[in-house]
Amino acid sequence: MTIVLTPPPEPKEVDLTETYDAIVVGSGAAGGMAAHVLTSHGLKVLLLEAGKKINVEAELRSMQWPYDHPRRGDAPPGWHALSLNEYNIRKPPYAAKNSAYKHVWSYVGGWGGSDYVKDILVDEKENPYTGTNYAWVRARVLGGKTNIWGRLALRLSDYDFKAKTHDGYGEDWPISYSDIEPYYDRVDTYLGISGHKEGLPHLPDSLFQRSHRMNESEIKLRKALLPMGRVATPYRAGVTTDGVKNKYRSKCYGRGACGRRPGGCDIHAAFDSPTGLIYPAMDTGNLTLRTNSTAYEITVDKKTGKANGVAFIDSQTHKALEAKAKVVVVAASTLESARLLLLSKSSQHPNGIGNSSNHVGHNFCEHLMGPGVTGLVKELVGKEHGNEDGRPGGFYVPRFRNLKDKQPGFLRGYGFEGGGGKGIFPDSTDRPGFGKGYKKEVRDYAGAFINMGGFGEVLPRYENAVSIDPNVKDAWGIPVLKFDYNFGDNEKKMAEDMAVTAKEMFEAAGIEIIGVDRELLTPGWSIHELGTSRMGNDPKTSVLNQFQQSHDVKNLFVVDGSSHVNASCQNPTWTIMALAWRSCDHLADELRKGNL
Ligand SMILES: Cc1cc2nc3c(=O)[nH]c(=O)nc-3n(C[C@H](O)[C@H](O)[C@H](O)COP(=O)(O)OP(=O)(O)OC[C@H]3O[C@@H](n4cnc5c(N)ncnc54)[C@H](O)[C@@H]3O)c2cc1C
Ligand code: SF4
Repeated sequence: MTIVLTPPPEPKEVDLTETYDAIVVGSGAAGGMAAHVLTSHGLKVLLLEAGKKINVEAELRSMQWPYDHPRRGDAPPGWHALSLNEYNIRKPPYAAKNSAYKHVWSYVGGWGGSDYVKDILVDEKENPYTGTNYAWVRARVLGGKTNIWGRLALRLSDYDFKAKTHDGYGEDWPISYSDIEPYYDRVDTYLGISGHKEGLPHLPDSLFQRSHRMNESEIKLRKALLPMGRVATPYRAGVTTDGVKNKYRSKCYGRGACGRRPGGCDIHAAFDSPTGLIYPAMDTGNLTLRTNSTAYEITVDKKTGKANGVAFIDSQTHKALEAKAKVVVVAASTLESARLLLLSKSSQHPNGIGNSSNHVGHNFCEHLMGPGVTGLVKELVGKEHGNEDGRPGGFYVPRFRNLKDKQPGFLRGYGFEGGGGKGIFPDSTDRPGFGKGYKKEVRDYAGAFINMGGFGEVLPRYENAVSIDPNVKDAWGIPVLKFDYNFGDNEKKMAEDMAVTAKEMFEAAGIEIIGVDRELLTPGWSIHELGTSRMGNDPKTSVLNQFQQSHDVKNLFVVDGSSHVNASCQNPTWTIMALAWRSCDHLADELRKGNL
């Protein structure tokens, strides 16, 4: 079936003599949402994106079978993806400038199918960082990481927003679930989300479109968990299954490539920022997009101390340029946003813009990963296979710890992402034998395995931080980030519990345990970096107010995961977009009233 989608709109001419209503830095989930909301309010917006615009459909080739690719999807020789050992044994920067490899990527480039992301992930040689071990995954292209994200789209609840009230640790957010609920609803409706209602207070339901179906092994697990008071729910995917009003996107046809990791969706049923947000914003006539524009400083008016624009480098020509605006909206992703704020030093803001509290870069948090379980559903061995591939994900087991109970040893909770059934590549190639018998064995076992891995909340701590390393610069001469980030006792105890409960759930379902992973992966593995410019009511201990607006500089907003007060254990992208929508509504209102 050929699906005909509307090509991207023609970009508007960039005019750097104009003072825009707003400049948005970064075009991922957060920046795309800011561009969408602000332009829909009639504001003239300039969107600066460090990466280039790629022909993403040609890049992703979602319908390409492994045998249609000369290297079965692998990248050309000379490309190297960092391994777990490299992350753990060595210290960053992980890729020396004189490395023998032509290009070095983060570990995501090491997943099968790397040819489909080789132009999306950053080259670590050009983009170094220093400090403690950290697996930092970045995508510098129009749309950022949303081009290849895993699409698990979850809401937070008051267990997260009011976590301090619940267990005494850290800070509450300056908002409640009721403040953000209408914006979650808007994101659901505008972008489309598939899933199944469960009525859980700690994982509120979305306005779901048709859910994909769980397969036999997943249903077996779901049935076993119900008496334990736990749930295995179909993967809540930021994917439109019934369609949305957007000529750049198609609904999901379940065509298979979602099972190929890494890789996105070339008909854009899975949300990505360019087709979901940026192209429709361009169609309003209010958005000017400039790609290849690496922001390195938020400029300020010397008299007022307010932001008045952004200084950036043309990523291709390396020419330094400036753009002017009434408001600056930072959305470069959590860590890049912290870098930009800290780099923006002036006599008015000697510690970096918006940093009178000395909290920018601090309270950096994310999700720990590693513990999980793999099992075999024996009755599925040798069974006829259905069309089990071609869906955006398997299942999700929401948090069940420290809700009504109180666990000894650790605070907060974790959830599991998992899947069973037959994928594009058989998951049993280590079966014994050779020749015809081996092929039969592989076919018989393919589809009988099921696995799940945990995502746990890393507590926010002031001492977990990033700062500027003045001694190391990236390929554009901009000082890089230095990590000072470690897991603590809470994370280690939580990880132990994750391995125990993962095993116990599979056992309860009568699934034969093949392996249990207990080790923590390198910090950063979840690609869910959060915090660094947290929201709060007190300007002494927080960077932003409840509208992601700087306490110090009222025409400066930071609308990505930087603002999160804690990481919770749910994947963050849907929350990032709901918050950005709410803040940009507020921004437009305040600008209209002359308050910025
Ligand atoms: C493989 C993978 C799987 C994932 N799975 C999930 C999942 O299942 N669920 C989930 O919720 N999340 C998932 N994520 C995370 C998700 O992609 C991010 O939460 C989301 O993209 C964050 O949006 P953002 O706008 O903050 O950052 P990004 O999407 O990274 O966008 C930031 C943009 O800013 C640009 N930029 C950076 N610095 C500058 C600068 N100085 N000047 C100009 N532009 C700049 C970048 O080039 C980039 O385009 C996954 C990510 C990956 C890579
Ligand atoms: S399964 Fe659906 S969302 Fe995934 S690649 Fe195919 S069409 Fe896109």
